[in-house]
Amino acid sequence: MKNDRFLIYYQPLYTVSDGKFTEAEALLRLKDADGKFVPPDEFIPVAERSGLIVDIGGMVLDKVCRYIRELLSCRVDIDSISVNLSVVQLMQDDVVERLLGIIRRNGISPNRIVLEVTESTLISNYAVVGEKIRRLSAAGIQFALDDFGTGYSNITNVIDLPFDGIKLDKSLIWDSVVNERCSVMIRDLTRTFKNISLGVTAEGVETQAHDRFARLCGCDKIQGYRYAKPLPVSQAGDFFGRRAI
Ligand code: C2E
Ligand code: CA
Ligand code: CA
Repeated sequence: MKNDRFLIYYQPLYTVSDGKFTEAEALLRLKDADGKFVPPDEFIPVAERSGLIVDIGGMVLDKVCRYIRELLSCRVDIDSISVNLSVVQLMQDDVVERLLGIIRRNGISPNRIVLEVTESTLISNYAVVGEKIRRLSAAGIQFALDDFGTGYSNITNVIDLPFDGIKLDKSLIWDSVVNERCSVMIRDLTRTFKNISLGVTAEGVETQAHDRFARLCGCDKIQGYRYAKPLPVSQAGDFFGRRAI
């Protein structure tokens, strides 16, 4: 952080109903001393173990808020940006004040931020984490359940929390195009989520078959290399408001 080696990339999300990119997920990147990228799957667990993820996560949210402000001031058509939240952050006593403070200081509306929480976050610390999610949601922040299908979350816990959306993990999308049983289950689950007013995003859409499946399921949003890769700020801006082919 001292040497400013963290960068945020933005992966545009495609909205099926209007064919536009008006959302994105912020994905953290770390450059080592030689300028090579260290994958987040490597450095995030280290940052979590050391507790540094609290400051790093705060920095990510702050940069995202600034970016949203900049986009809005240029009249770019953007609805919200998603930020990944670590369980370590959610376990902090002051997480609610801290995150809302960052958003307020930047003068943006909390509903421009979607916080992504994984199923595994809910398993071990449901009481503490659930209370924080409720308070942040009551303040206007949106929540998405990330990597759905990879954990073993208690479905009633998921339904009890004020999630706005569910992100189907890429493994479910990939399996569904080769496994009929998986495909039937995901189609039905998606319908169920939509029936209880949860938005559904398909992750990891790389091929035409993945895309066809996501649309067949009625997914509201699509995220994946087929549409857009995570991009540096200099390229991400061009996507927002643009219609895909
Ligand atoms: P995630 O939250 O599930 O993020 C989506 C990951 O899928 C990203 O990997 C993205 O680059 C990748 N992806 C997107 N579309 C496709 C596709 O079509 N095919 C394939 N194969 N992959 C796709 P990335 O950027 O390497 O991030 C990995 C994980 O690191 C994230 O998974 C998230 O859990 C964590 N992470 C990233 N940034 C942050 C952060 O700021 N804070 C925290 N706490 N975790 C973060
Ligand atoms: Ca995520
Ligand atoms: Ca995910």
